[in-house]
Amino acid sequence: MAETRTPSMLEVFNDNFNRAARYLKAPADLLKYIRTCQSIYSIKFPVRLRGEVKIFHAYRAEHSHHRVPTKGGIRFALDVNLDEVEALAALMTLKCAIVNVPFGGAKGAIALDPRAYEVEELERITRRYTVELVHKNFIGPAVDVPAPDMGTGEREMAWIADTYIMLHPNELNSMACVTGKPVGQGGIRGRTEATGRGVQYALREFFRHPDLVQATQLSGDLAGKRIAVQGFGNVGSHFARLIQAEDGAMIVGLSERDGTIYAPDGLDVKAVLQWRETTGSIKNFPDATTLDNAKACLELDCDILVPAALQNQITPENARRIKAPLIAEAANGPTTSEADAILRECGKVIIPDIYANAGGVTVSYFEWVKNLSHMRFGLMEKRIGIRNQRQMITGIETVTDRAFPMPIREEMLHGVDEIELVNSGLEETMVESFQEIVEIMHQNQTPDLRTAAFVCGLHKVVVAYQALGIWP
Ligand code: NAD
Repeated sequence: MAETRTPSMLEVFNDNFNRAARYLKAPADLLKYIRTCQSIYSIKFPVRLRGEVKIFHAYRAEHSHHRVPTKGGIRFALDVNLDEVEALAALMTLKCAIVNVPFGGAKGAIALDPRAYEVEELERITRRYTVELVHKNFIGPAVDVPAPDMGTGEREMAWIADTYIMLHPNELNSMACVTGKPVGQGGIRGRTEATGRGVQYALREFFRHPDLVQATQLSGDLAGKRIAVQGFGNVGSHFARLIQAEDGAMIVGLSERDGTIYAPDGLDVKAVLQWRETTGSIKNFPDATTLDNAKACLELDCDILVPAALQNQITPENARRIKAPLIAEAANGPTTSEADAILRECGKVIIPDIYANAGGVTVSYFEWVKNLSHMRFGLMEKRIGIRNQRQMITGIETVTDRAFPMPIREEMLHGVDEIELVNSGLEETMVESFQEIVEIMHQNQTPDLRTAAFVCGLHKVVVAYQALGIWP
């Protein structure tokens, strides 16, 4: 039997793009231009490590400049290639358009396994990569603003910010050259968990649409829903923790690269995090069954499957064995086009990546705005809000001659902090965008949410280019 080749991420992106393009009244040449990645920087740079010079291959792709700066994460992964970076940058363009974040899409990567290096080695590699980006004008608050992605986090973002600031001592807004920084280094509260929280808000909104819920043969809300999560990194772990703690959902399965754990009555996510901290793995977690196969997580008996690890995980090979009627794509590109068609044929509903994982870039946008304003959100209005609330409480108590119960009084007088403003802005963004996608799906009779989301994003990019024209 002939072996089937797994398509590249760019091929999958182009398939989805072409499917959505049929629903748009846009000139073919413009669509062709929009599909093209506009700037690509591929570098090989040296770093002296362990007594020898090591060469690293790295990339930055800016997919679309219809809005600037461009924006997108930086990935550290051994097998990353240009095709993958271009596809991820293209997804970012549409993602930003869908959630009305005023950026073009970009993505960067260094081909390395971060687990193979000491912290100070990673720091030298990250700083050298930043210098390369500066020299070719592929980073800057008004140019291109990176963020974390697979294999990177706030530590790497702090190194990038510091390197950029050292090279631009007189630039007032240099802190806004990168997002996802630690809070003490110009970051914003809520960014670290934003992508996972965004998936949580997306699922909450899904369950407010009875026609969509009916198609999955599920009912009610997230309480008691059985969820399996592939990938227990930044996105997967925060998602699992939040949806269990705040929505009463059950996490029945979790996987990491070395295996899957399964407990039909639910796993205690905080305890699993603690277990991994102590043992270095989620495997053999007490009261759970351990399976050595990491991909087994995708096929578990559950209501909702959340791939939150890598691309190309759901393929024609395993698509028919997926039991969950609802899939929320927290990872970028977890489903190949062929698998997508099989899942649709089997009646599965998919909340697509370009919408589902947009929480990260949404809160990155808030961080960028915070850096440009040089002030924490909520600082100016908090005390006024508390004073107004106190006056209202006093007024109501005077008129009714009854006192508010203490817990209610305390909650009303708490005031709004940065984290509450961030989560409120994120929730509003995820709810509003989902409603827009559903409306497009109904209006255009698109067969699924993915096509509708692509139509939603593409339409906004087309309108922007038509308004901009071509100069000179
Ligand atoms: P991460 O590096 O923090 O975590 C990835 C996790 O996946 C790790 O725990 C790793 O051990 C695990 N993993 C690797 N191979 C696996 C396998 N075969 N099976 C199961 N688990 C495996 O990365 P992240 O930031 O959580 O990103 C995960 C996905 O979400 C990526 O596709 C990324 O592009 C996407 N994403 C991330 C963000 C963000 O803000 N970090 C935003 C949008 C999208």
